[in-house]
Amino acid sequence: MATELGVGRPTKRRPGAAVGGLPVADSRPSLVDGQVGGVRCTTCRYPVAQTGIPWCPACYGPVEPARFAATGAAWSSTVVQIPVGTRRPPFGLAYLDLDDGPRVLVHLAEPTVLPLGARLRITGLDDGDLTAVTIEKGVEK
Ligand SMILES: [Zn+2]
Repeated sequence: MATELGVGRPTKRRPGAAVGGLPVADSRPSLVDGQVGGVRCTTCRYPVAQTGIPWCPACYGPVEPARFAATGAAWSSTVVQIPVGTRRPPFGLAYLDLDDGPRVLVHLAEPTVLPLGARLRITGLDDGDLTAVTIEKGVEK
């Protein structure tokens, strides 16, 4: 009997009603007019790439809606060699430090390990996850 991956198992990864559980909020960053949506603390300016949070996670101060640049530098990256949900290996992941904001997880266009600090541009969403391409000398690859 073939079972479909990720079906029938409780998960906190995806929004909506989890199997046998309560609805789970989607904590993944969103794209708003080509920028990453989130909030910024009005007290300490701490940036968060998530909307709907009630207070600053660093100082508990009030937060206001914010948008962050879609470009940044790779903090870390890897190539995943196992299936995850509906994704099939190999696929690349990177943590991206946005130029004016928080660190976000992005799916890479190519399954490659990037040098630290490699420039990336967020290009869109794939099944709710941010996708990005590398920028070399101003040219997107
Ligand atoms: Zn704060």
